[in-house]
Amino acid sequence: VNPVKRFKYIILGGGVAAGYAAREFSRLGIKPRELAIISKEAVAPYERPALCKGYLALEGAARLPGFHVCVGTGGERLLPRWYAEKGIELILSTEIVNANLASQTLLSAGGIFKYQTLIIATGSTATKLTVEGAGARNVFTLREISDADKLVESIKAKKNGKAVIIGGGYIGLEVGAALRINKLDVTMVYPDKWCMPRLFTPDIAAFYEGYYMKKGIKIVKESLAVGFNADASGDVKEVKLKDGRVIEADIVVVGIGARPLTVLFKGQVEEEKGGIKTDGFFETSVPNVYAVGDVATFPMKLYNDMRRVEHVDHARKSAEHVVKAIKASEERRKIEEYDYLPYFYSRSFELSWQFYGDNVGETKLFGDMNLSSPKPKFGCFWFKDGKVMGVFLESGSPQENNAIAKIASAQPPVENLNEFTKNDLPIAKI
Ligand code: FAD
Repeated sequence: VNPVKRFKYIILGGGVAAGYAAREFSRLGIKPRELAIISKEAVAPYERPALCKGYLALEGAARLPGFHVCVGTGGERLLPRWYAEKGIELILSTEIVNANLASQTLLSAGGIFKYQTLIIATGSTATKLTVEGAGARNVFTLREISDADKLVESIKAKKNGKAVIIGGGYIGLEVGAALRINKLDVTMVYPDKWCMPRLFTPDIAAFYEGYYMKKGIKIVKESLAVGFNADASGDVKEVKLKDGRVIEADIVVVGIGARPLTVLFKGQVEEEKGGIKTDGFFETSVPNVYAVGDVATFPMKLYNDMRRVEHVDHARKSAEHVVKAIKASEERRKIEEYDYLPYFYSRSFELSWQFYGDNVGETKLFGDMNLSSPKPKFGCFWFKDGKVMGVFLESGSPQENNAIAKIASAQPPVENLNEFTKNDLPIAKI
């Protein structure tokens, strides 16, 4: 019989949120063996965005321990030794297969864990394509470091080969660029009329698509992959499209989105918009059970709305906030509710964009988005009800990126926008 391991706090999941929460616990004070992190990954929490950026680089690739949290925000790098020194139990390679919130118990194949306070930080799982032949070798999704390792092996094995990227979102665009830099012959296939349709306007998307094509990437839009053909040894050879076309492939990366991992808690906790519903302190409908990062649907104060955010900035900030809230409630103190300004970013080739706020309403582009300029630099405002709601900027300086964050947060009326842009964002002519 396995002994029951008891902890005051358990963080379920060992990703970005778990790492930033651990640092916050240590800042605010915990005793040895009060906190455990249980993760099915074999490594301590790391900055997940690196997996489709530096990790896939041709030279000087990022490798652990280089990008453990919290280096992504310029903080201390938390190595396994750090957790040991703080008395935080890092229980790795351990998948929780059953959770019982009523009895405050988690089960793995070989262990029973009990908690007083649980933080659910299970993140998301990459959506798989369930089409004919999807089990062929060298067809990948990318979520965890083990996925990235397999992709890297395959890039090495298929030098100068053909890669097909399915999906035109963040992962598709970043992995497409990384594989092209690795000298693969890259084709991107996506069902939408333009890439990143949830954020980009057609004009913004046209810039990135044009840029990618100049880099030698082929783009097939408004098309679905319906199957894969493999050779006799099981290696993928072709991607079949719905319209009958067939594209040769030695590597396929499927980046068609992710699903929050809430399945362990189905029927035990209130859900909303596909995530676990929380209040402004990330507490769920079950007392002493909290949810953060990708899995949480929380009140977005700024927009008076319940939202779920699948981005690293929110994972970090929600993790820090939940720990502050737990500590405050133990000490019968009050803290402010989470007040989040959405922030998304992406980098590929020499490009780098940032977006703050909400992409709703009318849009107005500014700057130079001419692909033949030596260094195009442009942006876009979103306006609604006479106010600025969101700002996008490609190739901004740190000062300019700060300026767009300030604008998205202040939501100035359109007529006052020039005051904000005059000094800090001189390329934005309204
Ligand atoms: P995760 O970091 O996913 O961590 C969840 C952890 O829980 C994992 O370790 C998982 O193994 C573990 N787990 C899940 N279920 C169990 C279980 N039953 N038992 C034990 N352990 C379990 N966002 C951006 O804003 N910008 C980017 O450029 C960007 N790039 C990305 C690139 C990639 C390749 C990926 C996959 C994501 C990227 N994201 C990016 C999204 C960002 O990484 C996530 O929003 C963030 O990691 C969410 O943090 P989290 O802690 O909620 O979940």
